[in-house]
Amino acid sequence: MSAEPDRTAFLAAATALLGPRGLTSDPDLVAPWLTDWRGRFTGRALALASPGSTAEVAALVRLCADHGVPIVPQGGNSGMCGGATPDASGGALLLSLRRMDAVRQLDREARRITCEAGMILENLHHAADAAGLRFPLTLGGKGSATVGGLISTNAGGTQVLRHGSMRALVLGIEAVLADGSLFSALTPLKKDNRGFDLKQLLIGSEGTLGIITAATLALVPAVAERIAVWCAVPSVQVARQLLLHCEQALGPALEGFEIMPHASLAAVLAYLPAARAPLAGDHAWHVLIEATADAAGAAALRPTVEEAMTAAFAARLVEDAAFSANESQAEAFWTLRDSVAPAERAKGPAVQHDISVPVERMADFIDHAAPAIEAAFPGVEAVAFGHLGDGNVHFHVIAPPGVEGVAWQEGPGKKISAQVNDMVTAWGGSISAEHGIGQLKLGELERLGDPVALALLRRIKQALDPKGLLNPGKLVRAERAGGRAG
Ligand code: FAD
Repeated sequence: MSAEPDRTAFLAAATALLGPRGLTSDPDLVAPWLTDWRGRFTGRALALASPGSTAEVAALVRLCADHGVPIVPQGGNSGMCGGATPDASGGALLLSLRRMDAVRQLDREARRITCEAGMILENLHHAADAAGLRFPLTLGGKGSATVGGLISTNAGGTQVLRHGSMRALVLGIEAVLADGSLFSALTPLKKDNRGFDLKQLLIGSEGTLGIITAATLALVPAVAERIAVWCAVPSVQVARQLLLHCEQALGPALEGFEIMPHASLAAVLAYLPAARAPLAGDHAWHVLIEATADAAGAAALRPTVEEAMTAAFAARLVEDAAFSANESQAEAFWTLRDSVAPAERAKGPAVQHDISVPVERMADFIDHAAPAIEAAFPGVEAVAFGHLGDGNVHFHVIAPPGVEGVAWQEGPGKKISAQVNDMVTAWGGSISAEHGIGQLKLGELERLGDPVALALLRRIKQALDPKGLLNPGKLVRAERAGGRAG
């Protein structure tokens, strides 16, 4: 900012705009939103704004532009990279979209829903269910993550294999740009060749190019039958063979293909004392397969899955398997899968990596990278789990027992991450498959990213947010005359 903003004048004007319900500086009300879900970043904020409408967001952003006040947009604060956490200066406004959670329109025939950005994913699922339809993206943080956050991080989750990540499901967007103007493109068109697809710029932009206020999302037919199969496999290489087999045998019925090593299942069972292991005995790796069908394909699903698994046994691709007999059993399997992240977090300090390599190389990558890290940093435990079917795993490196968390994460943890990210880059992969960059990975993106791509990111940021007020210090730094800032 060229001049220090007059914070008192700004707060007075913002209070007049939003009223007491829409703006607070009460430390007790603001504090819960100043630390990220993983507890790695804590910041300070000028105030917490909770506008109730798009018009209020637009007026507030204009006010921020006039006063030079930076804005940190926030949804459910379930992001993994500190993207929704302000810095320590206390100069930014934390802008929560959580109050804006209405469904504006649901069109059953066209299978789409238009809702506000603060709608929580789980509520979106319920809204689609109530209409006999389904929103097919889901993830472990579904009770907190909002539509705006999911779009801004281009979230993935466990059903990407069939339905794609958020980008594939967004049909239209409404967003407030840095100067307070409204980009309104909620009406979906099957064909539209008027140049750039501007909404795609906002998807995955982590609040650095605009504030998403609403979106039109694609829905799919409701699931009439679903089967989850928990399999034990001897190695990640065999898991990869099983994936190829399932893709062939199940075709579009294959919705999810998740892996976890024995250590992750053990962590989950310790974290959820009431949970039970689906299979007896110790197995090196576990695979959770989900197959679904709509009403038209429901009757054929179970025989098809059983046939596929019989063939997998015959080919020695599985050591043991358990089929869900009903919805609650399928849910119980998914609870185990969805609990890996919180269970690992409860286990102790770790450095987490959300990485992708070409799908066909992931098994080799895990076999190479985990022992390489454990050899280079004695005492650590490297664990890879997640979306093998998408070539994306969460590669967590757990600290040796007894070390102090933050000091370890900031010291050896950084060296570990650098080595992991170097390997991922050398294997042609991405250091952020689905969680985004935020503040956690900004330095590594700048270190390892293609210079041409990085320059393009900065030019786009400069064009859309010339004052650098939108989520400074996340994803892309704004260029300023005389050097970089924020
Ligand atoms: P926040 O955390 O509040 O914000 C995330 C980013 O988006 C920030 O940069 C923020 O500034 C920006 N933002 C938020 N709302 C807006 C808006 N309206 N306009 C502009 N910018 C905005 N993610 C996956 O992809 N796959 C997974 O499998 C997965 N599993 C998870 C499991 C657990 C247990 C948890 C807690 C999280 C998981 N996540 C996963 C991460 C998380 O749920 C996603 O990143 C989600 O998209 C964040 O949504 P949010 O509303 O909480 O966003």
